[in-house]
Amino acid sequence: MNVSSVYRAAGKLPRITRWKPGQNLRFPIDEKGLPGFKKWVSTNPFNPGVHSAFDLMAYEGNDGRVVVGMPPRTPVYAMMDGIVLDILRQGPHGCYSSMDLVHSFCCTENFTSFISVSLIHLIAAKDLTVGMPTPVRKGQLLGTLMGRHRDRMPWDYHLHLAMAVGRGCFDKSGLFSGRIADTNIDPEPILFPREKPQFFSIGVPLNS
Ligand SMILES: [Zn+2]
Repeated sequence: MNVSSVYRAAGKLPRITRWKPGQNLRFPIDEKGLPGFKKWVSTNPFNPGVHSAFDLMAYEGNDGRVVVGMPPRTPVYAMMDGIVLDILRQGPHGCYSSMDLVHSFCCTENFTSFISVSLIHLIAAKDLTVGMPTPVRKGQLLGTLMGRHRDRMPWDYHLHLAMAVGRGCFDKSGLFSGRIADTNIDPEPILFPREKPQFFSIGVPLNS
């Protein structure tokens, strides 16, 4: 029995459907919580080998100005049903923690390919703990970005969101083996299927 069967038996398995482009996702950050929000801009896009992610960091406001940095403690939500596989422990200010989720299983026997989402600079929600994989539902609170700190810059307040196609399996105790980041893919067209966000340079080198 793999962990899917364990969770299914307990009635806790998230509804896993095979991911496909254009799938209706829950956007990980609630735009209503961003003062004067008009649209997202791209400050640190996917760049293979350099920055294998998209940063939700800045937006254009209703006054046309670009706001850099998310409000401290911005909530972050699950984009799809899935299983939180791994949460790295928090670093300074909690802002270097990383949470790896797997979503959208395509199960064949004990082997599974999936989309994984890694969220970095996130403080995990209290009901998600380091250790045992935890099923999550689309829209569930996963955590918050860090709180306000005097020594941080506005662009430090962002969600680093990476996506990958992975393969692996769970054993009956719930342990996962496999690779969660075999092939990094560009999250931008998945986050923004209709309109590509404009690039906006914030004028400082970004590497996380
Ligand atoms: Zn990043």
